[in-house]
Amino acid sequence: AFRAYVLERQEDGQTSFSLKQLEKEALPEGEVVVRVAYSSVNYKDGMIAISNQMVKSYPHIPGIDLAGTVEQSSDPRFREGDAVIVTSYGLGVSQHGGFSELARVPADWVVPLPEGLSLKEAMILGTAGFTAALSVQRLEDNGLHPGKGPVLVAGATGGVGSVAVDLLAGRGYEVTASTGKAEEHAYLRELGAANIIGREELADIGHKPLRKGLWAGAVDPVGGQTLQYILSTMMYGGSVATSGLTGGHEVATTVYPFILRGVNWLGIDSVECPMELRRLVWNRLATDLKPKHLGGSLVNEIRLEQLPEVLQNILQGKVRGRTIVAM
Ligand code: NAP
Repeated sequence: AFRAYVLERQEDGQTSFSLKQLEKEALPEGEVVVRVAYSSVNYKDGMIAISNQMVKSYPHIPGIDLAGTVEQSSDPRFREGDAVIVTSYGLGVSQHGGFSELARVPADWVVPLPEGLSLKEAMILGTAGFTAALSVQRLEDNGLHPGKGPVLVAGATGGVGSVAVDLLAGRGYEVTASTGKAEEHAYLRELGAANIIGREELADIGHKPLRKGLWAGAVDPVGGQTLQYILSTMMYGGSVATSGLTGGHEVATTVYPFILRGVNWLGIDSVECPMELRRLVWNRLATDLKPKHLGGSLVNEIRLEQLPEVLQNILQGKVRGRTIVAM
């Protein structure tokens, strides 16, 4: 038997989210059984476990990230004892996820833990950290380099934002971090932010199509009005990596940033990211893109029992950095 957090639908149509004792038979089909060492909490987990968005069937074990050790594998690519990372695809969305001591997953979803990362560090990064690194990879593929100018990170105290600030500063970029949390400026400076601006300063007041060009690059997990403002303040030839919607999913823009400033608007998707690129990004996260602060104030470690509270907080934008769940 093993423990897992399970989302269930009651007879009255309400859902419950509680810690249960389960047998192995409760796990879905898959070639690889993983003894989970750590999971992590992402904004999407809040959308699933608390708001019940995206859930395909009940009962459901949420958790879009896990790292652990292979206990059993019928696929030749993995052997008992291998340290692995599983994120994305259907994990924790259409199939049982990482808020569980045991998981069974398709071998095609499994990434070998790269040398240079521990299981714990892999989950401190998790989907949020992977998305930050994928954003930087795509920005640099499109011509960004430290000499080109400042880089803006929106939602900077969040998971994607914190890792982005850390790894961009570590690569020599001049990072401006935007946050709605006035009390977290020291935290952002510790991660390497050179400048900090308030979230309210990124509002698209007056819907101006173009403003003074300020940023050579931008990492944006916020969307909405913030993204409208960012698009209007990109320097000539700058690139914006769009990954999220904590500030809203609707974006009103004009063609001017694109046709007058040659701005690149890059879409970042971690879920269906092809395995070759996925492995490359994880390997870079263990080497040249490895953030310097994978401990300390960026990390909050919790037990399974503490999940409901953190999931509520992340939906309310109250969480700082990354929360990992130790099994
Ligand atoms: P998170 O830890 O909750 O970070 C989100 C941050 O956004 C918050 O900490 C806050 O930062 C800011 N924020 C919150 N509410 C806001 C509001 N109303 N207006 C403006 N900013 C607000 O979440 P996360 O796990 O990093 O995920 C961030 C977003 O990226 C989510 O929308 C998530 O679904 C998305 N995401 C997408 C992918 C992908 O593959 N595309 C992968 C991972 C995540 P400040 O207080 O510092 O401003």
